[in-house]
Amino acid sequence: MRRLIRACYTGAGGYSYAKKAGDVAREHGFDRVARLASNENPRPPSPAALEAAIAALREGNRYPDERMSALVEALRRYHGDYRFVTGAGMDGVIETVIRTVVEPGERVAVSTPTFSFYGIAAAAHGAEVVDVPREEDFSVDPGKFVEGARGAKLAFLCTPNNPTGNSVPPEAVEDILDGMDGLLFLDNAYVDFADIDYRPLMRRYENLVIGRTMSKIFALAGFRVGYAFVPAWFEPYYNRAATPFALNSVSAAAAAGALADADRVRETRDHVREWRRRFTAEVPFRVYPTDANFVMIDVAPHTGDDVTERLAEKGVLVRSCTSFPGLGDHFIRVSIGEDWENIRFLEAMRDL
Ligand SMILES: *Cc1c(COP(=O)(O)O)cnc(C)c1O
Repeated sequence: MRRLIRACYTGAGGYSYAKKAGDVAREHGFDRVARLASNENPRPPSPAALEAAIAALREGNRYPDERMSALVEALRRYHGDYRFVTGAGMDGVIETVIRTVVEPGERVAVSTPTFSFYGIAAAAHGAEVVDVPREEDFSVDPGKFVEGARGAKLAFLCTPNNPTGNSVPPEAVEDILDGMDGLLFLDNAYVDFADIDYRPLMRRYENLVIGRTMSKIFALAGFRVGYAFVPAWFEPYYNRAATPFALNSVSAAAAAGALADADRVRETRDHVREWRRRFTAEVPFRVYPTDANFVMIDVAPHTGDDVTERLAEKGVLVRSCTSFPGLGDHFIRVSIGEDWENIRFLEAMRDL
């Protein structure tokens, strides 16, 4: 029956998931494991998010509001007067954007090394995926990016970038937007941890979509809520292409609650910035500059896989970067966790 499966799913590949904390704990005899592999917020969701979610559960017999009015209202209060579309995680938004603009066989450009899902989702849709490599220091040369994305209907650029942690300056993004003929999807999953604001670009460009997620600083990874800033002309087409009711009412309510809890966001940001500084100062390997809630570390002469395994033996879960195409085998990515997790990680790195 395997012959029935599409070729893009019968080979290797697909999304790489982090090891399960429970498996590592059992294997190496720990009560609790430092979970620094998935860039989550280590704190539970805001009480405001939980209360809103519980209230929404009681109306679970009804379909969600397809306009997501309460969530969009909360987004306007948080960001100002922009157009928004929503989805089941930013991953859901990415899939819908691809479906909205790309015909099978058309070209999609991806600035690499980066988050793998852009390429996976575009290929699954039958697109021709073109990698546009970053510079040696992982910065992006706008001229090269525009050249590499020539003929692409859609291009993906992640800033701050996963897994390298660095940002592309807004002026460079403007140069790209001025030069591109297609749509630019700017992935801002980690922008809340940076000092950069790309939102004003939405006022000046018709070919820009900015993706955001509630999974990172807002601590709702399990709820699966993503959204995007879109130009007004794009919104109705996105909604036509979207899966009906993809974002459920409980998650949408939680997201609106979390957006209203500004103190919680500020606390997380402060905690991340403090520990980012300490990781950079105290890890005895090369730590790349980061604007996100994680750091990328060059662990040469070890390999990322080796170090990840040895850290797991010490009860610390990190992400080996070997599955990020174009990056080489000697990098790990480590999220900022709770104090005890970060301390255990630093001690384990010193013992390595
Ligand atoms: C985590 C992440 C996302 C996806 O987030 P979800 O909303 O959980 O789907 C998107 N882009 C990047 C770069 C990420 O790291």
